[in-house]
Amino acid sequence: MTDNVEHLEFQAETHQLLELMIHSVYSNKDTFLRELISNASDALDKLRLESFRDKELQADISDLHIDLEVDREQRVLTVRDNGIGMSRAEVVDLIGTLAKSGTAQLRKQLMETKPEQAAEELIGQFGIGFYSTFMVADKVTLTTRKAGEPTGTRWESEAGSPTYTIEEVADAPQGTAVSLHLKPSDDDDHLYDYTLEWKLRDIVKKYSDFIAWPIRMDVERTVMDGEGEDKTEKTLVESQTLNSQKALWTRPRSEVSDEEYKEFYKHVSHAWDDPLETIPMKAEGTFEYQALLFLPSTAPFDMFTREHKRGVQLYVRRVFIMDNCEELMPEYLRFVKGVVDAQDLSLNVSREILQQDRQIRMIRKRLVKKVLATVKDMQAAGAPTEDDAEAPADSTKYQTFWREFGRVLKEGLLSDPDNRETILQVSSFASTHATDKLTTLAEYVDRMQEGQQAIYYMTGESRQQIENSPHMEALAAKGLEVLVLTDPVDEMWVGSVPEFAGQPFVSIAKGEVDLESEDEKKASEQLREQQEKEFADLTGWLRETLDASVKEVRLTNRLTTSPACIVGDVYDFTPMLERMYRASGQELPESKRILELNPEHKLVTGLRDAFAAVKDEADKPAELAETAELLYGTAVLAEGSELKDPAAFARILAERLTRTL
Ligand code: ADP
Ligand code: MG
Repeated sequence: MTDNVEHLEFQAETHQLLELMIHSVYSNKDTFLRELISNASDALDKLRLESFRDKELQADISDLHIDLEVDREQRVLTVRDNGIGMSRAEVVDLIGTLAKSGTAQLRKQLMETKPEQAAEELIGQFGIGFYSTFMVADKVTLTTRKAGEPTGTRWESEAGSPTYTIEEVADAPQGTAVSLHLKPSDDDDHLYDYTLEWKLRDIVKKYSDFIAWPIRMDVERTVMDGEGEDKTEKTLVESQTLNSQKALWTRPRSEVSDEEYKEFYKHVSHAWDDPLETIPMKAEGTFEYQALLFLPSTAPFDMFTREHKRGVQLYVRRVFIMDNCEELMPEYLRFVKGVVDAQDLSLNVSREILQQDRQIRMIRKRLVKKVLATVKDMQAAGAPTEDDAEAPADSTKYQTFWREFGRVLKEGLLSDPDNRETILQVSSFASTHATDKLTTLAEYVDRMQEGQQAIYYMTGESRQQIENSPHMEALAAKGLEVLVLTDPVDEMWVGSVPEFAGQPFVSIAKGEVDLESEDEKKASEQLREQQEKEFADLTGWLRETLDASVKEVRLTNRLTTSPACIVGDVYDFTPMLERMYRASGQELPESKRILELNPEHKLVTGLRDAFAAVKDEADKPAELAETAELLYGTAVLAEGSELKDPAAFARILAERLTRTL
């Protein structure tokens, strides 16, 4: 032992989370062992791969395995592996800090959640693997030596302490040993006594049977020795392997229990919750592969951050090759977890090779089809979600899926034209048809009115903003259904997806919305011409007066109660899209919009008459121009946008109101 013990402090969030866990009544403490074995298994996978790639690596890979060691007197349980190990820096980095990418999120969550439920929820969300040991231990010691390095590192921390120690150790074997100084077991049933052989055996069988490496433990066996009269009992100690080591994906579905699938999912995806759907796949012939994919039941907290890692695990003939194989899963399916085991790839395969590989592209294509088909089946089945505490009682598996991942899946409408049709089919949208239910496009089309020739939609920041927008007036009056699209991604895809089932997508806030039937058109044509003449002077003058903000002023029949609204041309950016671009730091030219007037509204007819009265005066009263500004400003506010000069608007409005008193 050396005298170079360093005391380091946990990151504040980590300490807080540890505290929560120590005091939590998390119902399933056994899972700490699953986490340790899962880490050990990953470390063995990594070492095998590393020594395969790096022939110079000084590492013994002749007997890769996991050991469970019990010291019953001292109440110490050790989980040991002879895998890749960690350098000192890695220990500090990987063990000393937690949920790096999500620290800010974690902090927020810690402050918002109630203590009683916090541990369970946070454990579920952040997957606090290694730290789960503090549910059962007063003190945890981790000793590790990285394969190929001469010295090792010891990390130690006591439950509840804001600090941990790090020291160099000269004599550590290659790999990692995690020793838990177990809390006293206070229950009579020995339910939580992790020094008991049967207990450990049970847990391994339940949670880690499929682990590819042997999990061994020394067990005592009583045998009879000698013959006849001299027969005596003798205790032998022998090493036993506790797990069957059978790769789950190679076994037929009928032989694997749901429990086994669930535990495997937790291992591959480092998750703590159950999968929503399990998808086993097997392909024979030219491209032989087996896959076991999972749809999670909750979205990871970092799904929309750069740090989020996507992709499934790649194996080649049962040998682990890499985590997060992006080549096998497109960005918009980044929530899919699982493994793909390919038969005909080289063990030497690198990311560069994968990107070019025809076989990988074929496999990816099939995985995508299968995932989408599964979502479609879920949608068709409408089966209720099992044990998902967060979901409303009557929600279906599909609804849970859509709530968690719909926003991500819709990215595929842009990035995967080949599967666009299927994605449209499995998508759900909010609509004016019902406030509490989403609708599919097929359902929308079924409800379309006689003569309706488009799927109407409006994008915006909230349902309320869209529903109350002036653009909605004429459609509401005619009872036409409008899709209410509030996800940022909606802005992106609606512009580039032309139609569904032969019906074009039409924004009610862009271009001229044509809601009249042929007969109505004929009837209103004359009126329209008449109005256009009557208002020509006013619209022309408004166009000049508001030149800084408006490129066109015209009459509309889309309004029933509002005097005016703002619309864009079909190819213009919507205000929300503009804001998104600006928020992401992109420069955009100022865009001018179109001001539409409701010729039936008293404010508009009044303005027309007032304008006519002073039409020939060169110096038109300043009041008229102010009314024009107010008219335009209110229309901008009504669509949920911001005024360029809110102070000026407020001043004009206040003066005007004062005069009405
Ligand atoms: P996760 O497994 O989800 O990454 P953990 O908290 O379980 O989170 O582990 C954190 C990290 O510590 C692992 O990603 C790994 O890099 C490292 N680690 C943990 N246990 C071991 C081990 N037995 N051998 C090598 N590295 C380990
Ligand atoms: Mg882990």
